[in-house]
Amino acid sequence: MALPCPGFEGSEKRLEVDFCFGPGTPPCGLRTLSRPQLDGLLEKASCCIVSRTSNAHFDAYVLSESSLFVFPDRLVLKTCGTTKLLDAVPELLGLAAALDLQARRCKYSRASFLFPEHQPMPHGDFSAEVQQLRASLGGNLGALGSAYVLGDALNGLQWHVFVADVGPRAGLPALAPVYTLEICMTHLCPTKAANFVRGPDFVSAAATTAASGIGALLLGAAVDDYVFEPCGYSMNAVDGAAFTTIHVTPEEGFSYASVELCGYAGATLDASTVVEQVAAIFNPERISVALSVDQSLPCCPWAAGVLAFPSAYTAAGAACQAFAHGGRTSFYSAALGGVTNPIPFPGPYAADGSSQRGAGRRLRGALARSVADVLALYDAAPLARGDAGALDAHIKCLVAAHGLEDPVYVVDLGMVARLWAAWTAAMPRVAPFYAVKCNDDEALLALLAVLGAGFDCASEAEVDRVLALGLPPGRIVYANACKRPRDIRHAAARGVDLTTFDTPSELAKLAAWHPRTRALLRLRADDLAARCQLGNKYGAEPKDVSMLLRVAAELGIEVAGVSFHVGSGATNPAAFSAAIALAADAFAAGAAAGHTGMDLLDIGGGFCGGTFDASGRVDLGGVPAAVNAALAEHFPPGCGVRVIAEPGRYFAEAAATLACLVYGVRDGRAPGGGPARDYWITDGLYGSMNCLLYDHAVLACRPLGRGAKSGAGAQLLPSTVFGPTCDGLDTVLRDHPLPRMENGDWLVFPKMGAYTHTGASAFNGFDATSPHVFYVFSQA
Ligand SMILES: *Cc1c(COP(=O)(O)O)cnc(C)c1O
Repeated sequence: MALPCPGFEGSEKRLEVDFCFGPGTPPCGLRTLSRPQLDGLLEKASCCIVSRTSNAHFDAYVLSESSLFVFPDRLVLKTCGTTKLLDAVPELLGLAAALDLQARRCKYSRASFLFPEHQPMPHGDFSAEVQQLRASLGGNLGALGSAYVLGDALNGLQWHVFVADVGPRAGLPALAPVYTLEICMTHLCPTKAANFVRGPDFVSAAATTAASGIGALLLGAAVDDYVFEPCGYSMNAVDGAAFTTIHVTPEEGFSYASVELCGYAGATLDASTVVEQVAAIFNPERISVALSVDQSLPCCPWAAGVLAFPSAYTAAGAACQAFAHGGRTSFYSAALGGVTNPIPFPGPYAADGSSQRGAGRRLRGALARSVADVLALYDAAPLARGDAGALDAHIKCLVAAHGLEDPVYVVDLGMVARLWAAWTAAMPRVAPFYAVKCNDDEALLALLAVLGAGFDCASEAEVDRVLALGLPPGRIVYANACKRPRDIRHAAARGVDLTTFDTPSELAKLAAWHPRTRALLRLRADDLAARCQLGNKYGAEPKDVSMLLRVAAELGIEVAGVSFHVGSGATNPAAFSAAIALAADAFAAGAAAGHTGMDLLDIGGGFCGGTFDASGRVDLGGVPAAVNAALAEHFPPGCGVRVIAEPGRYFAEAAATLACLVYGVRDGRAPGGGPARDYWITDGLYGSMNCLLYDHAVLACRPLGRGAKSGAGAQLLPSTVFGPTCDGLDTVLRDHPLPRMENGDWLVFPKMGAYTHTGASAFNGFDATSPHVFYVFSQA
């Protein structure tokens, strides 16, 4: 199943197989293969030949996706994009066997992918790749070999390498020591990358090769270069038995270039000089270098630690792996400038700290195993707790450092950690499954994940966003009582086996598409004082409970227990007590209907967002006492029922602060005739402030960094604050007392974490769906 890919995958897969000649092998070995045979081979890998160049030693082909090199006794195939290189291995071995050639050594290597989820199976998962390769190699070679991952798991690319080698055998000639230098670069300088676009001033591939500086790297070699439509560049250069191959993906957001030199004598190839020349061609922000030799040599010049990066770069790590039958790979990475904090891959997350919404993308948080990991991965700055002045100063620094004009969120991960601690202290029996729709910020999700939370998802995309954190499907409750068919099929495919229902129609869909699911009966149990009512849409009435349990039994759907949601922003503890009592009745009815495995009570969401007592401690009000008492009465400890909840607002609301630039001002008249003032800011009703409409929010705000000035002493004017779109409805505040502001001031809105940017649109071209996010970690 191919998902639409957000960008082109430049990172190449590389296969190198060495063969030994048999008595029946023709003198040219693999070079005897005909063009139709090679076409058939490449078809298996989903790519094709674009052009060819040859010399006495080998044939070099530029492919639609990278390159192929065919020597008499060796083949190197390098493919990028979503090609299926490993699917070509059986064909290759078959063609070789027909020439009486036996594989003696196989090496598969690649850097990390930018978009691993968009790789066809088995690519994207190194262990699956190795498994398939071993199976294809079969016999002797398939049983051998080792797989290694080199490089810093938290920082930049990793290098994946698998080597299987029959080793020194009687009668086998020794392999010639072949050196390979592979340079992978990301975040290319845009002006350098522009060289590889086939724009209006495109002349020829040769001109591109010369103008980009690549030509100077290749003195003396025969060059076969190609510039793709609308952009992209591939080049092979043949030089005796050695080759250079260069591939460039210039598009911003996923720019990538690779340069490989293979077959030059180790003594004559100065890797540091080549890296310096190559870095000058692309000016990348990140460089990784893999240096390999196929044979252990007593004085290998490439023992770890000898590579020097150009002075503009800071080395980020080096690793060296020796292989069982000789040879080694050394892997180095470096970043432009004095970067000491990890800038995790992939790029679009990195430079400005903005987060990328959407499913199917490996999140940085997937690497997190602890709270400390999350803070490091998201560059959370320490901040004094409860100090608005310090927060404002931090926002001012961010605005200045990043030249920000667009709306910016600051998410306080320390606040989330304190909310977690307060929850577990107040309701130790109730395990939170955070409701992703409330705020799907990836660091917030990653932090809750390492703290031990489960997740409440309501759609395919939310499920994938949680799974992309590396969590097992058992950490998800699919708490949408009316799911689209595709959501149910997706849940079944991903192994998400816990969901909710409240109608026979939902049960019928589950029976059709996900019969092994365990289902929670959602009851209607409203707190009529809650800020947002849900009971009009969801929840079975008490009179329908027995019927629903019976239908489930008839359809063979296992009922796991009961869920409810009293409404979002609930304040009435009695609503929870009454709902838990209703749930107990439904458990009894379930047992009567033959559902003997009911073991889960889900008390839903609704918990108020970050309310605090006078000393700044989290204050959950009367709800925990009511919940604990009702649980003790109806579901006492030891009854065999596990209790979960689906809090959204509680964890998110107080954790995020939004700041917006003031970019328009006007004097006005207050209704009573006095002075008033109008402002335009960069976010509004179609953006994060959609919470005014959908979440019945009441916004507070302060001018950034005015501290005391905006307090008692300052003159306050009744002010109207407009959002950026051309709709008169797009009004954020009316007659709100604010001190006089000018263009260039910023307005800060605290407690904007719940139901804000997740409901935003891109109306009128003001895209508020992926705002800038920066992280802080407040502590006492
Ligand atoms: C929205 C929602 C939640 C979260 O509600 P909060 O009021 O934010 O705690 C939990 N469960 C379900 C089914 C929801 O729809």
